Amino acid sequence: MVDRINDIWGERTPHRRGTTWPARVDQYLDEGVQEAEVDRWVQSACLLCSNGCGADIAVKDGRMVGVRGRAGDSVNHGRLGPKGLYGSTPWASSPDRLTRPLVREGGRLVETDWETAMGRIVEVSKRLLEEKGPLSHGFYTSGQLFLEEYYTLAVIGKAGLGTPHMDGNTRLCTATSAAAFKESFGADGQPGSYTDIEHCDAIFLYGHNMPETQTVLWARILDRTRGEDPPRIVCVDPRRTMVALEAERTGGVHLAPRVGTNLALMNGLTRELFAHGWVEDEWVAAHTLGVEELRATVASYTPTRVAEICGVEAEDVRRAARIFGESEAVLSTVLQGFYQSHQATAASVAVHNLHLLRGQIGRPGSGVLQMNGQPTAQNNRECGADGDLPGFRNWDNPAHVQQLADLWNVDVMTVPHWAPPTHAMQIMSYAATGSIGFLWISATNPAVSMPESARIRKILSGEQCFTVVQDLFLTETAELADVVLPAAGWGEKTGCFTNVNRTVHLSEKAVEPPGEARSDLDIFLAYADAMGFTDMDGYPLITWRTSEEAFDAWREATRGRPVDYTGLSYDKLRGPSGIPWPVNEEHPDGTDRLYADGVFPTDTDYCETYGHDLITGGTVTEQEHRAMRPAGRAFLKGAPYTPPHEEPSADFPLRYTTGRTVYQFHTRTKTGRSGDLNRAAPDAWVEISPTDADARGIAEGDWVRVESPRGAIEVRARVGDVMDGAVFAPFHYGHWEPAAANGGGHDDANHRLANELTMTVWDPVSKQPTFKTAACQVTRLRDGDGPAPAPTTGASAPARRDVAPRRRPRPTQGGGPTTSTLLTQTPTYMLDPAQEDS
Ligand code: SF4
Repeated sequence: MVDRINDIWGERTPHRRGTTWPARVDQYLDEGVQEAEVDRWVQSACLLCSNGCGADIAVKDGRMVGVRGRAGDSVNHGRLGPKGLYGSTPWASSPDRLTRPLVREGGRLVETDWETAMGRIVEVSKRLLEEKGPLSHGFYTSGQLFLEEYYTLAVIGKAGLGTPHMDGNTRLCTATSAAAFKESFGADGQPGSYTDIEHCDAIFLYGHNMPETQTVLWARILDRTRGEDPPRIVCVDPRRTMVALEAERTGGVHLAPRVGTNLALMNGLTRELFAHGWVEDEWVAAHTLGVEELRATVASYTPTRVAEICGVEAEDVRRAARIFGESEAVLSTVLQGFYQSHQATAASVAVHNLHLLRGQIGRPGSGVLQMNGQPTAQNNRECGADGDLPGFRNWDNPAHVQQLADLWNVDVMTVPHWAPPTHAMQIMSYAATGSIGFLWISATNPAVSMPESARIRKILSGEQCFTVVQDLFLTETAELADVVLPAAGWGEKTGCFTNVNRTVHLSEKAVEPPGEARSDLDIFLAYADAMGFTDMDGYPLITWRTSEEAFDAWREATRGRPVDYTGLSYDKLRGPSGIPWPVNEEHPDGTDRLYADGVFPTDTDYCETYGHDLITGGTVTEQEHRAMRPAGRAFLKGAPYTPPHEEPSADFPLRYTTGRTVYQFHTRTKTGRSGDLNRAAPDAWVEISPTDADARGIAEGDWVRVESPRGAIEVRARVGDVMDGAVFAPFHYGHWEPAAANGGGHDDANHRLANELTMTVWDPVSKQPTFKTAACQVTRLRDGDGPAPAPTTGASAPARRDVAPRRRPRPTQGGGPTTSTLLTQTPTYMLDPAQEDS
């Protein structure tokens, strides 16, 4: 029995390089439920982060009562982390689930039936279509729906309505990942594999607090670093995370660049590769374009200059570059510290540049994992509910647009392709003016997650835009809607989703949704029916009724594209789980890593984009792209460092950055309803360095006011291991409170909402908003009544032990019992190079 709140990564199972990660099955059952009492286990995968761990759902008496890892799953080899164990099921039976549709009457949301709610939606939709046309419609979806739901929504938007105004909250978390892939390799798609962890001799983590965001993946790394021949870890993060500690332990490097200076650091590392001859010239000449331009761009970023810009030691830059330059096989992982920061795409592309210069891509151990935040973000990008065209097609390529028009049997002019798709921040701006008068938000909570939240609240509550929200609960966003639709969640519907390393899982329906809640697929189908969308021959546009039929339709949309699902079916996904695309005749069992042959999808007629200028976001034209004759070669692209949009000033002398804690996911819609997780991280806080705290007379647990030019929050302070001059705030906390008596309620204030302070600015290429480079001030308000409500287990651990007993943080612990069973015989995993070697 293990308390996995305190023991986040579980017991170590160390092993040598080139051997298979041992299997261990982690399991959680609700208090009082014995394993023998479980009626059945239903195949699925965890939906609480992008890792996508294979999991079975325990069902008893028609309720979900627990989960266990799937030992044979290629992603997690049976393991689950705290969120997966404690957070997967409690929300489902929470008493505040939405069970009936709501409509706004006289300023209040009141319960109604489906016919009335859908009738109101369709009435507004048809009227606006007639009066203003399809550009009056916008859709803002999620990273948590299923593939079949995204594809259906994409067809409704692109072929039914013909609006380019579609995006997902993936814009906030993974847009830079997709953009960086497209710029370097010509199309989206994760090149690397998790099996690279078993084969590498160095791991670089860029702005990626993996121990808290993807705990099972970090356990996989720990099982290498605690083995006989550990890879060295290099950590790029302004906080002293567990990654930083592991870097120190393995003889690697912790680089803590000033917030907003990532690109300067990356240029410095790139320059060192050139300066020391750590470049595979022959491979680079055969497989890339742009090496001389890149050499010139980074030439001035000496370690000394980088040290001045970034506030790191010049020697640490040299050491990190040497580790990259002299390792046989480097694995790089990237996340929000790069994606949500200044010059996001340029910095993420720079990671690709390092790998391309070393010829380290497509080989075991030499991988890039541009991570995702949310579990099904990848599907949103693939299916086109984020605005891209389905199947990684290029909106600027008429042949690609025609392929879709043929597939859907609609006029090619219906499919939006006259300009780039509208990104989420722009959608909100159009909604603010009423240019978008119909906004449908599904499974996401922008009132908490989008930057400058006071602005977002004003947009969503205004009369200028009719807003539909479909979700599990009355979220901070749903409260502002005109119509609220109750949705079925994970385990209450069937569908597929694809994790960050292209691995596809089938998640089967385990129980019935509560009350009148319906699956998102059924809701979208009902809207399409009511709107009467037809193809050119007058037949219904959407020809599928079930999730399996939707999957089969999607499969055809991927034929001939990099994201090829043609070899997959529900039957194939049942049983041994975790199959990475492309899956087709050539690769019937899937594909562990892309680009093993050094050929990239950059051909002008095939690529997903012609590319952009990384500084301005200006587009490369088809003619310019064709003139470069990429012919399967990857692009080496660079850009100079520029200072962030908002630098510290006399009034706001500190740098504000938001992030995550291990115990909460996104805006806590699910994890906030898990007693175990919520006790571990119940309320918001900010982290401030001991030096900055002393300068302001702030002690552990004091109430402080954190203010930026856009707003202020009042929370308690954790004196923690952030770098001097930086302030960290977790972004999860809106004004919903898990009041025990009624299963949740709402506080009036937004005093703890981290995004009150962030800016409405975005990266010029990926259009991902910047959450990590605002200027702020922190002032002490009053004594706290104890320590800050921050966990002690991860990067939020207190920096000081010499605090008054009353303020001393108690160790974070107290999770319900889980079991962990180490398997003596490791299952056989498809596509595991270690097993192939043996
Ligand atoms: S690592 Fe992610 S997918 Fe795996 S159990 Fe934890 S939250 Fe779920």
